Amino acid sequence: MTTITASTCCYCGVGCGVLIEHDNERIIGVKGDPAHPANYGRLCSKGATLHLTGDLTARALYPELRLGKGLARSRSDWDTAMGHAAQVFGQTIAEHGPDSVAFYISGQLLTEDYYAFNKLARALVATNNIDSNSRLCMSSAVVGYKRSLGADAPPCSYEDIEQSDCLLIVGSNMAYAHPVLFRRLEQAKADKPDMRIIVVDPRRTDTCDIADMHLAVQPGTDVALFHGILHILMWEGWLDRRFIDEHTGGFDELKTLVRDYTPEMVSGICGIRQDDLQNVARMIGTAPSFLSLWCMGLNQSSAGSAKNSALINLHLATGQIGKPGSGPFSLTGQPNAMGGRETGSLSNLLPGHREAANAEHRNEVAEYWGVDSLPGNVGLSAVELFECVRQGKIKALWIACTNPAQSMPDQTLIHEALAACPFVVVQEAFATTETCHYADLLLPAASWGEKAGSVTNSERRISRVRSAVAAPGEARPDWAIVCDLATRLEAQLRPGQPSLFDFDSPQSLFDEYRGLTAGRDLDYSSLSYALIDELGPQQWPFDAATQKGTARLYADNQFPTDNGRARFIAESYLPHKEQRDARFPLTLNTGRLRDQWHGMSRTGTAAQLFGHVEQAQISLHPDDLRSRRLVDGQLVQVKSRRGELILPVLADEQIRPGQAYIPMHWGNRFLKGLGVNVLTQPLFDPLSKQPELKQAGINVKPV
Ligand code: SF4
Repeated sequence: MTTITASTCCYCGVGCGVLIEHDNERIIGVKGDPAHPANYGRLCSKGATLHLTGDLTARALYPELRLGKGLARSRSDWDTAMGHAAQVFGQTIAEHGPDSVAFYISGQLLTEDYYAFNKLARALVATNNIDSNSRLCMSSAVVGYKRSLGADAPPCSYEDIEQSDCLLIVGSNMAYAHPVLFRRLEQAKADKPDMRIIVVDPRRTDTCDIADMHLAVQPGTDVALFHGILHILMWEGWLDRRFIDEHTGGFDELKTLVRDYTPEMVSGICGIRQDDLQNVARMIGTAPSFLSLWCMGLNQSSAGSAKNSALINLHLATGQIGKPGSGPFSLTGQPNAMGGRETGSLSNLLPGHREAANAEHRNEVAEYWGVDSLPGNVGLSAVELFECVRQGKIKALWIACTNPAQSMPDQTLIHEALAACPFVVVQEAFATTETCHYADLLLPAASWGEKAGSVTNSERRISRVRSAVAAPGEARPDWAIVCDLATRLEAQLRPGQPSLFDFDSPQSLFDEYRGLTAGRDLDYSSLSYALIDELGPQQWPFDAATQKGTARLYADNQFPTDNGRARFIAESYLPHKEQRDARFPLTLNTGRLRDQWHGMSRTGTAAQLFGHVEQAQISLHPDDLRSRRLVDGQLVQVKSRRGELILPVLADEQIRPGQAYIPMHWGNRFLKGLGVNVLTQPLFDPLSKQPELKQAGINVKPV
């Protein structure tokens, strides 16, 4: 008999509701949940094939342990494996201090998993060395929102897409990365043909198919573009002076800065026509409502914070925020990057949108947890963390639900670091990832359809994730693995004291965690699992009195800053550090394909998902093939200052001459070379610490 279990898709930040069809042993089908407000029944190719990704040969099924580098791992049992892990972590902490260990976790964990990891690292181990792959995804948006608006809170809802008159999509191939939202946008444009859509992207992607204007800017020039648009808005008087005067600060400084960003100068920097720039400014400046949507093209940049702030400046200057169809709306890449930000899963954060560097915030959380204090030193962000592993400063590393041996920049360094680390634990559902190769201890984790908890999507909506079938082999839910380690470590680090990890279910973790949101900007302290079940997925902040979530923030023009005003940020455009030169004359861009997800640990198990694009390839403009005497399909050597790859080349008119594109999904188990990130650089944004994954100088030659 077929049973239906309502849950949430495990891929992107749209957070679509799914109905899992199963017979209590196997998942046999997946449909979109018509009642879920993120997707109203729609699913993309990835979500609709989730039931085809259950290949057990790819899964980690049993704990596997090795007692020395160079040995093969052999099957262990949970008690032996966790006892060994606790003994090594405890001994390392005792001998070298709490900052000699680190946790690197994932935007694909559930909120409850994240919370358990955070409490383990900060309250028990007493280290802030806990970072997540959200550092590679959204940390520039976090800084952008906090600096400009006072809190890490996307102020918009998906319904703003339908309500907007003018949309600016920047650094986002929504058609591939957020397909269900893109379908909503297509429908909105069909229903409202006067809606203006502008796409800013160095490539002409499928998202451009519905654009009224595509600005194919030179890579990394977004700050100059946004300042240039503001220059024209000022010149033409398309500003909301009243909003600026009453609800913002810092405009005069920004005004002085952007005076220099004339159309002539900006068209030269960005490589676009002046009249296109004028047209875009007019569309934005005269639209009744204006929504911007962005993703990795702004965030994965060594100037990611400046790009985010310069874009938000446009909303503040036009007063286009807190109104239907208006606002700066970052699209989260991963299914629960938002939950990670909420629970404090970047090294600089604490649960409830608090800061690890803020003594008052530390005291609030320490008191809630019943510990004397929390560490106040700065924890390591992802790139810094792996550099410290390589240097031998981190002696025990716990990696959960992510694949840094494929996803981090400068893979040569990452592989060196993982090989040299004395003890690497990998907590993973899939045994096939590149990182599993380095595991001294591999712990099998339950995956989508097998575990329960909650996630928050891009529009701040909290949805339940439900278990439909048992996990295969001896795989356990992530939260249970963390709590097992924690209770074993407590015997060493807090002997005789009451346990901090008296959790018996995801619900017990959620109930403790939501208390930490009380009084904060994201307050959902009154939102229980039972209320989500009764009312459906809810957006934070959730009002206890009215029992309603909040669709749109800042409708009252009050911002959570010291003086209640939003802040203009005045920062100059800085040219990218790795410009094209004679040795590396092409600029590499990386990104997603429509039917693959991250390192393909899951999507790579479904043959259908290779129907769209079969293999990794490098796309170049036909002129660049001709000048190198290359032909379409030929194998080429792609080289950057950091490493090289062998790939077939694809002639692609959608790429501008001088640029190149490689999808991010294929790692070294598919390719000759360490995947596309062997080419990318570990340079990161000074504020968000988000690395530059979108821009690197490369050379392409026949093999
Ligand atoms: Fe899943 Fe995202 Fe596709 Fe929705 S749009 S089905 S969340 S991958």
